[in-house]
Amino acid sequence: MKYYLTLLVCAFSLNTFAQTKTITGFTKENAETEIKAEEKFDSYLKASNLDEWMKKLTAKPHHLGSATGKQYAEFIRDQFKSWGYDAQIETYKVLFPTPKVRLLELTGPTKYTATLEEPALKEDATSGKTAEQLPVYNAWSPDGDVTGELVFVNYGVPADYEYLERLGIDVKGKIVIAKYGGSWRGIKPKVAQEHGAVGCIIYSDPMQDGYFQGDVYPKGPFRNQNGAQRGSVLDMPIYPGDPLTPDVGATADAKRLEQSAAGNLIKIPVIPISYKDAEPFLRALSGPVAPERWRGALPFTYHIGPGPAKVHLKLSFDWKMVDCHNVIAKIAGSELPDEWIVRGNHHDGWVNGAADPISGMVSVMEEARALSELMKTGWKPKRTIVYCGWDGEEPGLIGSTEWAEHHAQELQQKAVAYINTDGNGRGFFGAGGSHTLEKLINEAGRDVIDPQTGVNVIERRKSADASNAATTKAKKDILAKPGLTISALGSGSDYTPFIQHLGVPSMNIGFGGEDDGGEYHSVYDSYDLYKRFKDPKFEYGVVLAKTAGRITMRLANADVLPFDFKAFHRTVNGYMNEVMTLLETTRETTEVENQMITEKRYLLSADPTQKYIPPVKKDEVPFLNFSSLQNAVAALEKAANQYSELAAANPKPNTNLANLNKLLYQAEQKLLIADGLPGRPWFRHSIYAPGLYTGYGVKTLPGIREAIEQRDWKQAQDQIENAGKAISAYTEQINSASKILMLR
Ligand SMILES: [Zn+2]
Repeated sequence: MKYYLTLLVCAFSLNTFAQTKTITGFTKENAETEIKAEEKFDSYLKASNLDEWMKKLTAKPHHLGSATGKQYAEFIRDQFKSWGYDAQIETYKVLFPTPKVRLLELTGPTKYTATLEEPALKEDATSGKTAEQLPVYNAWSPDGDVTGELVFVNYGVPADYEYLERLGIDVKGKIVIAKYGGSWRGIKPKVAQEHGAVGCIIYSDPMQDGYFQGDVYPKGPFRNQNGAQRGSVLDMPIYPGDPLTPDVGATADAKRLEQSAAGNLIKIPVIPISYKDAEPFLRALSGPVAPERWRGALPFTYHIGPGPAKVHLKLSFDWKMVDCHNVIAKIAGSELPDEWIVRGNHHDGWVNGAADPISGMVSVMEEARALSELMKTGWKPKRTIVYCGWDGEEPGLIGSTEWAEHHAQELQQKAVAYINTDGNGRGFFGAGGSHTLEKLINEAGRDVIDPQTGVNVIERRKSADASNAATTKAKKDILAKPGLTISALGSGSDYTPFIQHLGVPSMNIGFGGEDDGGEYHSVYDSYDLYKRFKDPKFEYGVVLAKTAGRITMRLANADVLPFDFKAFHRTVNGYMNEVMTLLETTRETTEVENQMITEKRYLLSADPTQKYIPPVKKDEVPFLNFSSLQNAVAALEKAANQYSELAAANPKPNTNLANLNKLLYQAEQKLLIADGLPGRPWFRHSIYAPGLYTGYGVKTLPGIREAIEQRDWKQAQDQIENAGKAISAYTEQINSASKILMLR
C-alpha cells in the first residue's frame, strides 16, 4: 500500500516534467500536430471491444490448419475491411503434424500409463473436450516406438549432461525426462539426441509454474496437476518456418525438400506431460540423489537413475500439408506509399489461446480500428501501414516466416520497421529490439500513462527494475539512466524472420509481470482464466494499443525517421567488451580447471563411496585479434555522433528526405552476413540471434560468442572479421546519410 502511494506522489512531478514534448524526427510544428492526433487516437480506444473480440476468438480451439482458425482469420480480415483497410488473406501450404497415437507407459518396476489429458473444469467454459482440440503433444516430434531405462536430466541443457558425465551416467539408448525451464523446450530433445538418448519426456514441475508459485487453477492461475505444456520442438535456431521450404515462401508451387532433408527436424520422439503424470516416473528412479539445484517441488526425493524405471514411448503423427492463413491489411501512405510500417501479432493458438495470442491480437485490432476513426477526421499516414495477423506462429513462426521469405525483396526495399506483439497482460512495459529504435520506444512510452499508478509506463517499469535490482550499484545505475534500455531479440515470436533473416529494424513490445500463471499452452489458457487473472478490465490491452499505436503513427509520419545510431553504438560497444571479457575469463577458467585436474583436486574432494569421474583437461585458450572489430566500432561511434548532431537541426526544405530515410531504414541490412552464421545460413544478423543451445534466449555478436563458447578459435577469429566488416558497411551507410544532411 505504501509503495502504491509513493508512486502516486511521484506521478505528479513526472507528469509535469513531460510538458515540453519533443518527438525525434518531427519538426516542432509537425510534432504538435502529431501529439494532438495521438490524443484523439487514444480517445477512440475502447476496452469493451477487446473483451468482445477475445470472447469470440477464444470460443473454440484455433490452431494452424483448423477450420476454426480459418474462420477466425476471415473474421479478422472482415473487421479490417469494415474499417476501410485493403485486407486479404495470404495462404501458404505448410507441413503440420498432429498426433495419431500417443502412448507413454512405465513398464517397470511399477506400472503406470500416462493420462495425457487435461480434464474439463466447471469453472472454465471452454475446457471441455472438442473434436478439434489438439491433445497434449510436442509438434515436430518424429514418429517412434522406443523403450529404455529412464534418466532424469534436470533441464536437459548441455551443463546438465556435463554433470551426468561426472557421475559416470550415460544416456545412450535411454529415455530422458527433463523439466520445463532453463532453456526453450526444443533444446531438450536436441541435446538428448546429441547424447544418444532414444526418447525424451518433458514435464511441468510444480516449482516452475504450479503450486510452488501460487494457487492452482481454478482457485488461482497456476498450473494444476493435469496441466501440460504443448509446444513446438522444431530446431528453430537452425531456421524457423515450414521445414520443407527454407528461404522461400511456401506457396502452392514452391520447391520443397524431402522431409528427411529438412535441417530443423529432430530425430527422437518427445512428449510433454503434467506433474501428475510425471510423478510415478520420477518416483520409480533410483541411483544418485539429484543435486539441490536439480530438484523440483514434488513431495519425494528426486533421483537421477538410470532406471530401474523402464519406459515405453510410442508416438505417431499425421504428417499432412495444411493451409496457413495470414491476414494482411494495408492502408496506403498518402505521400510515401513505398515505405511500409509493418505491425503484427499472431492469431493462431495451441488450444483456445486467450493470453497467447488473442490478448495481443485484439489490441492490434483495436489499434487499427482507432486509426481508421482518426483517418475519418482527416489524419493520414504519410507511409503505408501494413497490419498482419499471423497464422502458424505456435508450431514455428510459420506464417510470418513464409510471408517474409515470400516477400523478401519487397520487404528489404520498403519495410521501414516491424513492430511485433504477442500475449499481453497486467503489469510492466517490456521492450526488445534493434537498438536504433530504443529512443523511439522510450519517447512513445513516455507519453503513455500506466492505468494503475498514473506514472508513464517507462517510469513504472523503471521503478520495478530498480526495486528488484540485486545490488545498490544496480539500483543506482537504473535510477541514473534517463530511460529504459531495451533488450536484444533472440527468438520466440514473429519478429525473427524480419530482423534476423531480412535485417528489417524490429521490436517486440508488451505488458506483463502482474499476470503470472501456469496456463501457457494448455487448454486452460481461456477467456475465463484471462478475465479473472490476466487483465480483467483489458486496460493493459488498451495501454498496449496506445503504445504500439504511437510507435506506428510516429514511424508512419516522421519527417526524418527516428533511428538513433548512438544507442546502437553504445550497445554494440558493450557486446564487444563482453565477448572480449568472455575470452579472458575462458582462458582463466581453463588454466585453473586444468590445474585442478592435474592436481587431482576434484577427485580428492569427491566422496570415495560414490562413483565420480573427473573432467578431462581442455586445450589452452589462444589470444585472438579483436582489432578489426574494435576499429569498426570506433568508426561507428564517430559516424553515429556526427549523424546525431546533424539530425538534431531540422532539415532544410531542400534536403532529399526520401533518399535520407531510405538510407536510414535500410542501414540494418548492412549488418547481415551474406553466408549467415556458422551452420545456420538462414540466420544472417551479425549482432542478434537466438542461441543454438538457448533457443529463445538471445546471443549477441552470436558468431563470435558461440565460437568462443564452443572453443572453436579459428571460427571465433573469422567471426570477428565478419562482424567487423558488417559494422563497417553499416557505418558507411550512416556516413552517406550524414552527407545528405550536410548538403544544405
Ligand atoms: Zn504467442
